[in-house]
Amino acid sequence: MDHTDLYIDGQWRAGATGERFDVLNPATEDIIASVASADIADADAALDAAEAAMKDWAARTPRARSEVLRKAWELMTARLDHFAHIITLENGKAGADALGEATYAAEFFRWFAEEAVRADGLLTHAPASGARILVQHKPAGLAVLVTPWNYPAAMGTRKIAPALAAGCAVIIKPASETPLTMLALMPLLEEAGVPKGLVNVLPSKRSGALVDHMLHDPRVRVVSFTGSTGVGRKLLHAAADQVLKPAMELGGNAPLIVFEDADLDVAVEGAMLAKMRNLGEACTAANRFYIHADVADAFTAKFTARMTALKVGDGTDPTVDVGPLVNADTRDKVAAFVADAVAKGAKIECGGETPQNTGFFYPPTVLSHVPENADCVHDEIFGPVAAIQTFTDQDDVIRRANATEYGLVAYVFSENMKRALQVCERLEYGMVGLNRGLVSDPAAPFGGVKQSGLGREGGHEGMLEFMETQYISASW
Ligand code: NAD
Repeated sequence: MDHTDLYIDGQWRAGATGERFDVLNPATEDIIASVASADIADADAALDAAEAAMKDWAARTPRARSEVLRKAWELMTARLDHFAHIITLENGKAGADALGEATYAAEFFRWFAEEAVRADGLLTHAPASGARILVQHKPAGLAVLVTPWNYPAAMGTRKIAPALAAGCAVIIKPASETPLTMLALMPLLEEAGVPKGLVNVLPSKRSGALVDHMLHDPRVRVVSFTGSTGVGRKLLHAAADQVLKPAMELGGNAPLIVFEDADLDVAVEGAMLAKMRNLGEACTAANRFYIHADVADAFTAKFTARMTALKVGDGTDPTVDVGPLVNADTRDKVAAFVADAVAKGAKIECGGETPQNTGFFYPPTVLSHVPENADCVHDEIFGPVAAIQTFTDQDDVIRRANATEYGLVAYVFSENMKRALQVCERLEYGMVGLNRGLVSDPAAPFGGVKQSGLGREGGHEGMLEFMETQYISASW
């Protein structure tokens, strides 16, 4: 790997303590890199660099910022295979999945290049006083970005691109399992014209202390986090001390509902995407399958056939459909969910056994007759296991789908649009996939309600997360 040091002020640095940590390839369990671990002094250096860089960047015209982002999209699009390969090596996802992520990640630069010039304000008359109301959006300040391992490129660009479009400087702390993709992106951003210090990358094995320190620096105004609800809560507590602007993309427990009037081929195709994109290691992964009793056998048979046909292996092999899980803990947690469901009465339709070979592999698994009290109905599985339950009554399935503290995404399959849209409106979720297994799109406001998060990424909303609204009351 070319870049394994900290990236601060446009320079590669070994870090104040000289400590490093290993990154593994989850398919082979080999160490692929030893990465510098940032400490408090490195965070301070990055904050100083970001503060200095932001002054000039925020003062540039929106068009000038936009053109740098557009260039980043062009450069990344020309090197998708390079980024896909690094993603596969450190995260494990198979080639096509990794290429899909790299493409999606690059699109955030193009989308926010287009949004950078549209931070529209407002001029109007106050109805009673007759004063003029002027509203404008200004860059919020330095932003601390913390990202998970499941999308090493896209979870970073989904935050960096809108922050830069808004005029902010950032310090990003990538997940310790997968820091290499974000480090590899930095030379590309330099080439695109991103000035020194505007984007800093601090991998660390002391994430808690490092991020907490930065969230208490008075120059920081935004914290944007993607990861588990538990860590999100901690960061919200820390953010309260300086009343930071929080954007939180947290966990999910997505229901996937197939009505008796669904097109079953469409439903199976959607279910494959919703369950197996990134091997189920996605906050958007379908976690609970609710299939109408009239079509449950037919759906389960078709879906199981598709799951059984997937080839599992090292993601660098182009014939492989799905790679390993990211680490042993994730694999063991998935196996425990299956063991718990089976002990409580679920039936294994396919998969369900941990292979004994090297690598953190787990086979695509379908469970039917999953009881309501199985752990996987209440917690994120984060792996390639589909837990199928049945229903007969529409109100009952909506109640069951909403019976969770999460509210990120739900999936609905029905050919009756009137019914389908009525159901979508009653689902307490920030996003719904209707006859589709994929909702993520840079042009759409991605995010959850309830304990799945605060704020939105992508769309127009994504840039406003990094801006403050100022109102001027004027007379002339
Ligand atoms: P995680 O919460 O363990 O880690 C996320 C990031 O936070 C990593 O960079 C980690 O090093 C850092 N971190 C851990 N403890 C910290 C602390 N005390 N202070 C500061 N930073 C800390 O999550 P993960 O296991 O990497 O990712 C899986 C989770 O992310 C799942 O729950 C998934 O649903 C969620 N996720 C959500 C979205 C979304 O958009 N809603 C997208 C992807 C993943």
